[in-house]
Amino acid sequence: MATGTAVEALPPPLKESGQREVFCGLTSIVWLHRRMPDAFFLVVGSRTCAHLIQSAAGVMIFAEPRFGTAILGERDLAGLADANEELDRLVAQLLARRPEIRTLFLVGSCPSEVIKLDLAKAAERLNRQHTGRVTVLNYSGSGIETTFTQGEDGALQALIPLMPRSEQSQLLIVGTLADAVEDRLVSLFHRLGIERVASLPPRRSTELPAVGPGTQLLLAQPFLSGTARALLDRGATLIRAPYPFGVEGSRAWMAAAAAAFGVPPAQVAEVLDPLVERGRRALAPHRDTLAGKRLFLMPDSQLEIPLARFLSRECGMDLVEVGTPYLDRQLMAEELALLPAGTQLSEGQHVDNQLARLRAARPDLVVCGLGLANPLEAEGMATKWSIELVFSPIHGIDQAADLAELFARPLRRRAALAFV
Ligand code: SF4
Repeated sequence: MATGTAVEALPPPLKESGQREVFCGLTSIVWLHRRMPDAFFLVVGSRTCAHLIQSAAGVMIFAEPRFGTAILGERDLAGLADANEELDRLVAQLLARRPEIRTLFLVGSCPSEVIKLDLAKAAERLNRQHTGRVTVLNYSGSGIETTFTQGEDGALQALIPLMPRSEQSQLLIVGTLADAVEDRLVSLFHRLGIERVASLPPRRSTELPAVGPGTQLLLAQPFLSGTARALLDRGATLIRAPYPFGVEGSRAWMAAAAAAFGVPPAQVAEVLDPLVERGRRALAPHRDTLAGKRLFLMPDSQLEIPLARFLSRECGMDLVEVGTPYLDRQLMAEELALLPAGTQLSEGQHVDNQLARLRAARPDLVVCGLGLANPLEAEGMATKWSIELVFSPIHGIDQAADLAELFARPLRRRAALAFV
């Protein structure tokens, strides 16, 4: 396994701006609504926004949906109709039809922002109209302000003012995890002797965890800069750790929490080392496929840096370029320190320039969005769709092999097809 490097050993990141090939923050509704089944996400936007969510959610739109779009028509956009009145009417209809909704998120979009529809005021007004029945919150998922996973950061920040205050000592895991992964991690924390473990977002939107000076935050996702800062403002402290991807990252993540709660390293080793052993064994066949392969990550979800760290250190891949839509140096410090010396980072995107670098480098595997994947495959490059990484359970030591498999699969498929 490669050793860590000082951050100074990394060349300065390329800062790029220009044409971007990324999702807007509305996309995060697709996993947030699954996490909190008693919440509803109402996008206030255009038909474009409705189409985006429908395409991203795929077949889920045919089940009982917990998200929808209040479509701003031409009369709203031209200022001829009172969009607020229409919104109130629509929300009243929705709540009458869906008595199980406890929290309603009004989600801002590019059109609602451009016509300066004040959704914070609308949420206040609707809260008064429906007191005791539902809590109405708002955040922006627009493409002007947010990229992909930043939508979750916005949604969680909207919940923070509603969290009760408590001084009690507790571990707060922040960021959406698959339920089964969360159960597993919480049971491991219990075995480490950390008794009070809560999660944000919770499984029920009305059962928000408390926060205060006794709360120690452990970020499960790297894209929660605003949420982390807002929780620190409520008195919590941040546990600094790499993110729980791969065997190494997940162990370090749990060990950092254990250290913050005074758990002796010997107990950490006793609980985690058998899992580490098993995780490494499960990873080995994927490492055989991935080792020595050159990897290029386009910016998408902010998961790129932790994934690049995992794929280089535990799977032996060579990093050509690691793109991220946004680089929060503070929250990424532990990850940056683990990247191999010389790793080229890029922040933001100028897609034509990036494609020119990509074509010149001809990497073995490109991690990118769906808009670029098939065209790049047609040019002879293997690709991995990055969206799968936010929908799959990839956190924790037990999931390390599954995570590696997501990257090994396109290479194996390519090899199998070449053989045929
Ligand atoms: S919020 Fe903006 S970027 Fe997102 S779908 Fe709507 S119009 Fe497009």
